[in-house]
Amino acid sequence: MNPHIDRYPAPDPSPEALAVAPSPDKVQLKDFTRSELDAYLAELGEKKFRGEQIWNWMYVRLASSFDEMTNLSKSLRTTLNEKCSLHRVSPGQMHPSPDGAVKCTFVCTDGAEVESVWIPNEDRNTLCVSSQVGCAIGCTFCQTAKMGLLRNLTVGEIVEQIVHIRRMFPIEKYGRLTNIVMMGMGEPLHNYDNVIKALHVMTSDKGLNLSNRKVTVSTSGLVNRLQTFGHDTNVNLAVSLNATTNAVRSEIMPINRRWPIEVLLETLRNIPLQARRRITFEYVLLGGLTDTLDDADRLAKLVRGIPAKINLIPWNPHPGGEFQRPAPGRVGEFVERLRKKDLNVTVRETRGLDTMAACGQLGKPGLGKRKMGRAVTPPAQDVTGATPVEEAAS
Ligand code: SAH
Ligand code: SF4
Repeated sequence: MNPHIDRYPAPDPSPEALAVAPSPDKVQLKDFTRSELDAYLAELGEKKFRGEQIWNWMYVRLASSFDEMTNLSKSLRTTLNEKCSLHRVSPGQMHPSPDGAVKCTFVCTDGAEVESVWIPNEDRNTLCVSSQVGCAIGCTFCQTAKMGLLRNLTVGEIVEQIVHIRRMFPIEKYGRLTNIVMMGMGEPLHNYDNVIKALHVMTSDKGLNLSNRKVTVSTSGLVNRLQTFGHDTNVNLAVSLNATTNAVRSEIMPINRRWPIEVLLETLRNIPLQARRRITFEYVLLGGLTDTLDDADRLAKLVRGIPAKINLIPWNPHPGGEFQRPAPGRVGEFVERLRKKDLNVTVRETRGLDTMAACGQLGKPGLGKRKMGRAVTPPAQDVTGATPVEEAAS
């Protein structure tokens, strides 16, 4: 970390620098993977090296217009201006928290709002990225669930959260963006194809260049998608286990009615993992419901045999949320109990709690319904297939 960088400087993007004119009718270049960009440029009759140049402008130099791309021919710049766009989302409001976390809202061309959270630390800067507008999974402890699912984000809308943030938090002042966690709004594996492509863009070595070891996708446990996930990408996987009995998990995570704990864990035992990789199990501590020491014992038993890290998340309250944070001292006892069984356990620091930027506090219930009029909340027993998402996205 650069010692000259202020610890947590307040964000100060100049609105002019960030102003973009998203054009919904044009080809969005940020929807393309590297090879898709080459194929598109070939269709335009351009030589292959142009792909690398444009990729560099988009993801290294963070250009916001084609006119900046001065090493392209003038005629290519004119064509790109006519047919293509670099942006589909614009930065909206920012909510800085005294602990350094900043919740950033982005507005899509259809008025949908997505949220990302910048989380600075001494040795790293993490961005929590959204994959959908709202979420269909319906977990009872999560604020995003209350929106229902409005639609999937496109590849470009996922990637642009990172590009905008890199402009808003320049390296010289804030340090490098090192880690991405797909733990914002939405269930990433419910928007599988777009998320897999976005992960390729994030880790592309001549572009955003994030290490696949520093990118994590968090899922509520879509077993059908987990079966292919390890083949389609090699980023880290985090699974929201959140309960140790099917009775409680089905009550707080309706997806458990489709794929109960034993089916989920069996799937995880069989997915290919790179050497020295572990699966992170997220576990939300709901006071009196999932934070008993019997839960700790059952949790240890459940993950036995899986290379695992346990990440405990004391429940973050939100308006209308009917749960309790764990009683004082309980988190420590829970950790101790698991460590005695030789488990690798961390407690997620609560950042941005006061600005509703912490885990499970993203999204405004009813916002999408008001603005877009099409919230989709599929029945609890059918939250797994692609159908509701496709309906919402069509
Ligand atoms: N949909 C994905 C990723 C987004 S949620 C998933 O569920 O894994 C990211 C994490 O926040 C999940 O582990 C989820 O269990 C947790 N979470 C949701 N609401 C929360 C809340 N109010 N307090 C603490 N953690 C919460
Ligand atoms: Fe969706 Fe994750 Fe919230 Fe569950 S916890 S409703 S899967 S965002």
